[in-house]
Amino acid sequence: MRVFSGSLATETNTFAPMPTGLSSFRDRGYFPAGRHPRELTFFSGPLCAAREVAADKGWTLVEGMVAGAQPSGTVTREAYETLREELLRDLRAALPLDMVLLGLHGAMVADGYEDCEGDLLERVREIVGTKTVVGAELDPHMHLTPLMVRCADLLVSMKEYPHTDVMERARELVTLCEAKALGRIDPVAALVDCRMVVPVHTTREPARGFIDRVQAMEGRDGVLSISVGQGFAHGDVPEMGSKILVYTDGEKAKAEALAMQLAAEMIAMRDRLAVRYPQIDTALDEALAVGKGPVVLADRADNPGSGAPGDSTFVLRRLIERGIRNAAIGPMWDPVAARIAFEAGEGAKLALRIGGKIGPLSGQPLDLQCTVKALRADMVMTGLAGAPTDMGDCALVEAEGIEIVLCSIRNQAMDTDVFTQLGCELASKDIVVVKSAQHFHASFAKVASKVIYVGAPGAATPHTPTLPYTRIKRPRWPLDDVSTPVLLATS
Ligand SMILES: [Zn+2]
Repeated sequence: MRVFSGSLATETNTFAPMPTGLSSFRDRGYFPAGRHPRELTFFSGPLCAAREVAADKGWTLVEGMVAGAQPSGTVTREAYETLREELLRDLRAALPLDMVLLGLHGAMVADGYEDCEGDLLERVREIVGTKTVVGAELDPHMHLTPLMVRCADLLVSMKEYPHTDVMERARELVTLCEAKALGRIDPVAALVDCRMVVPVHTTREPARGFIDRVQAMEGRDGVLSISVGQGFAHGDVPEMGSKILVYTDGEKAKAEALAMQLAAEMIAMRDRLAVRYPQIDTALDEALAVGKGPVVLADRADNPGSGAPGDSTFVLRRLIERGIRNAAIGPMWDPVAARIAFEAGEGAKLALRIGGKIGPLSGQPLDLQCTVKALRADMVMTGLAGAPTDMGDCALVEAEGIEIVLCSIRNQAMDTDVFTQLGCELASKDIVVVKSAQHFHASFAKVASKVIYVGAPGAATPHTPTLPYTRIKRPRWPLDDVSTPVLLATS
């Protein structure tokens, strides 16, 4: 068996202020063909899963380009076309192939391309022909278009949010694609649009039970795979929304019926899936009322993982204005302030202008008298599924009793070690504010006395009906009152 694997992935917030160019891919992870390290780099799940079995099975595994960018605004045409062509060149050079296994996101938007993954998969199919099995692992925050489904034999999305199951789903993808290549299964797909967009936090009910039930259906009664697409509300493209994708073994009617049934179930629970986002002061009041720290406040609106800058000051400002001490916040993306802290050195006391630099949705910068408590060059945070995540040069500074983690590479808080590596002890804090929507939960829930999701302003606002959409298909809940799913595509 001759197998090709590669990756091109990012999640595009079309409302975010910063474009995603080639540097954004270099910062997060860009590996030309054959140069991917041994460790997982999040969207290299299929490549890492294929490596695990290639030797045992006697496969020839050709490793193409792997490139992933921190979510941000629309990808520049130059960046998308450059990286796409590199991946396709690698693919052509690897022909003939039995299998193509890709690590994609599913919500990448570039100048001139509203459906990058559909465009990429269509080109891949054109190159390899109809006999080669094409499969991809996706992020559940995907738009999941009919074009993607049509051009791939199998698409498997992660199920957990936080996305801790990147390797488990990648191994499933590899197993299913191999079975297809060997003629043991005949996957047929049904894609259903729930005509809504809703988060699926698997850390609580009802999402936990729903995902567990979905997972128990797989591998039985001819059901091969089920993907629950949450959608990504910050992508203003026609296909934005929550979707259900079911593959059965040759039974089209069954795939359609099951996808429609699961979509209806998801619609019925959407009010309970929705997350409560109190305003900043309410969230701070609730946190202080707990009386036992650390209460973790998730600043969802400034989550770099949703394309926000990660430098907003709204929550930090209220902490200071209210005189709340014994708190920590991070990571704040502020390479300039981090650089100045490095110049000053550990122990230095100096005035720093922190955050609020990217645009109005980042708030105003804060001028604070700071003490530099710790510096760590090229710091690496433990990412989801253990993937090492570069944070660049990081500084811990303290002002008004609040410890602030400054980072020079933009990323969300995924592990408590983004604080503890700098000596910031979370257990003794009353409040810990993290720049993250939900991925923080996997690690921070272990130390938190309580978790509160904050409805602060920001480029990744949770109040999505306020976004100035012009491209999404309507009607769509919560913008419109619609509660019937629609069958979009079958194969
Ligand atoms: Zn995601």
